[in-house]
Amino acid sequence: MARHAGAVCRLCRREGMKLFLKGDRCFKEKCAFERRGYAPGQHGRRRQKIQGYGIQLREKQKVKRMYGVFERQFRNYFAKAASSKGITGENLLRLLELRMDNVVYRLGFASSRAMARQLVAHGHFQVNGRRLDIPSASLKPGTEITLSEASRKNEEIQVCLDTAQGRGIPPWLELDQAAFKGTVKALPTREDVTMPIQEQLIVELYSK
Ligand code: SF4
Repeated sequence: MARHAGAVCRLCRREGMKLFLKGDRCFKEKCAFERRGYAPGQHGRRRQKIQGYGIQLREKQKVKRMYGVFERQFRNYFAKAASSKGITGENLLRLLELRMDNVVYRLGFASSRAMARQLVAHGHFQVNGRRLDIPSASLKPGTEITLSEASRKNEEIQVCLDTAQGRGIPPWLELDQAAFKGTVKALPTREDVTMPIQEQLIVELYSK
């Protein structure tokens, strides 16, 4: 299971943008990037000039960190995206979006992908009626994902579901909050990924 053991706010500061890795805290004044919007470390305040390979590398690191995926797994996603029909960059983002932990996060059961990953790994969800505890499992259109009976009284999840309404559910997903059930209605499109990602830079990096 991909997990960053250090201070995750440093990752946002390193990438120069908010990656929303800490749930509610990301929307509050406590956000480290809001308070110190420069790179971490002794020389973080110095403006660093990066170009070419450096820009491509940072874009790849940013997306990996956003989705909580390690290098080898990310490369595997890229290989799959490159060998599939269509535009490689868009295929890559679609594969990342269809991860079970991302779907749980997008549906609002968790305030961050890290929390979603933990909930999935701890067996809180059923997929098409069967328990599934693999955060990287790839879901397909038509898949139903349900919070298990025992977890429905979990206050933390309830709070997440209530606050997620403000965040909005992407159009390729559907949530029946009363039934604690979400459905993957369609494949996510490029327009559904609203974070500022330049996937072409990642394609260029891996195509060298
Ligand atoms: Fe990033 Fe969230 Fe930390 Fe802010 S609070 S720096 S958005 S992880």
